[in-house]
Amino acid sequence: MAIESLSTSSVAWVSAPRVAEVPTKPFRGQLFINGQWRDASGGERITRTSPSYGVVVGDYACATAADADEAIRAARKAFDQGEWPRMTGAQRATVLNKVADLVMERQEEFALLELFESGKPISQARDEIQWAAEFWRYAAASARGLHGDSYNTLGDDMLALVVRDPIGVVSVITPWNFPFLIVSQKLPFALAAGCTAVVKPSELTSGTTVLLGELLQQAGLPDGVANILVGTGPEVGSVMTSHIDVDMVSFTGSTRVGKALSAIAAQTLKKVSLELGGKNPQIIFPDCDWNAAVDAVVFGTYFNAGECCNSGSRILVHESIAADFEQAVISRARKIPVGDPLCEDTKVGAIISSGHLETILSYVQGARDAGAEVSLGGRSLDADGLYMAPTILSGVTPDMAVAREEIFGPVLSVLTFKDLDEAIAIANDSLYGLSAGVWSSNIDNCLAIGRRVKAGTVWLNTWMNGYPELPFGGYRESGQGRELGRSGIEEFTELKTIQMHMGPRTGWWLPENV
Ligand code: NAD
Repeated sequence: MAIESLSTSSVAWVSAPRVAEVPTKPFRGQLFINGQWRDASGGERITRTSPSYGVVVGDYACATAADADEAIRAARKAFDQGEWPRMTGAQRATVLNKVADLVMERQEEFALLELFESGKPISQARDEIQWAAEFWRYAAASARGLHGDSYNTLGDDMLALVVRDPIGVVSVITPWNFPFLIVSQKLPFALAAGCTAVVKPSELTSGTTVLLGELLQQAGLPDGVANILVGTGPEVGSVMTSHIDVDMVSFTGSTRVGKALSAIAAQTLKKVSLELGGKNPQIIFPDCDWNAAVDAVVFGTYFNAGECCNSGSRILVHESIAADFEQAVISRARKIPVGDPLCEDTKVGAIISSGHLETILSYVQGARDAGAEVSLGGRSLDADGLYMAPTILSGVTPDMAVAREEIFGPVLSVLTFKDLDEAIAIANDSLYGLSAGVWSSNIDNCLAIGRRVKAGTVWLNTWMNGYPELPFGGYRESGQGRELGRSGIEEFTELKTIQMHMGPRTGWWLPENV
């Protein structure tokens, strides 16, 4: 029997005023292959209905396997014969910086398209577009800074260079939760390295990636260097991971698909970089800055409606403060403005799809059945659109699914610990290892967690900051490879060793006068 929704009056519901109207006509997109816009070879289309407004907001040509093959061949030709990989870093940087300028000129258009397809709030969507532009600028700087190494220590007659070559044709496959931000974490870095690419966004949120194609053209990117396909994973994504002409796959998405795709890519020994799921702990000690920790827990859990790989979806609280700390989190979570994404004040918008909302609710039901208590929310909201109340589960034990699996919704699992060693043991008792955090004024606690927790990023007395300068990625089933920072561009290169002998030959294999 379905559980009834909660009334919107049970949360801090926001419904007015709006910054824009809901569109009456969908955004229409075509495939972008070899610098040309065209419909799919099969004539198929794919539509996207807004999770907040229930109207069709996107209508796209839906690529076939044959279209994917054509896009890959265009990227191959652009790499093998085109000018892009042979340009100077400075020339590539000019194009990438121009893209960043154009993104910022059209920031509001990008933000609204993102909002209508994903259900995320307008203020956050604008921020994401701005961060994305920063990634394009940082990648532009990396294009000029990319360099290898040299060895002058091999003897008088030897000098060696270790140079970085662009890896080749890259398939870029992205998820629906941060559509434009994530494509901007990958594509500009691949381009900066001199690679060419085929890009496939999630079929749920294709709009801003398609719009990017216009900007790439305007910025002067040569034809075939970046190709954009809207399509499904099984039809298009599978060609992008198996095709002999693809040298690398850069994937962000679920661990399940990441594993399947790696197995396919292994058949042709492609390099694969994976940014996958997380079940990220925040560890709370009694000596923390209480207010800051409470706010960070609320932010960490409910930002992007919890549909976030970095969601701090489990907190480990010292048992001596657990009850009081949880009450403080509940009382702050009740004040989160949830509702219409077009309202400036909204902090939590809609859930991406009805199927995903069902999955989140089934996790909550599973937690109830396993003996956890729903201390806040736990249900969808009785509103137009797909909304879920901020939810807190208490009495969660490390063996429960909600303590171990990625829920990807606005659900916080509260666990307790007795001492530092137990906190670290619980934090590491996970197949994931994307990020972790600690709240304590004791530097020894903070550094012990920084060093001993197995995660790609550890935040000490802060949560979910991000900088283009700093590498990002996961341990274990949270992924492989790193994005951003120096690795942002280096991931898209091959190392080549060039050894040079100077002067007359020495070290004869057979005696010189034989
Ligand atoms: P998903 O794995 O379902 O889909 C991701 C992309 O893969 C989509 O474009 C999809 O069409 C494509 N795809 C699906 N099947 C495929 C196949 N067989 N071959 C090739 N491509 C295929 O993920 P999602 O539901 O879109 O996104 C949510 C997931 O992404 C969560 O698990 C989240 O943690 C993860 N994520 C991770 C990061 C990170 O940086 N670590 C960032 C954002 C999201």
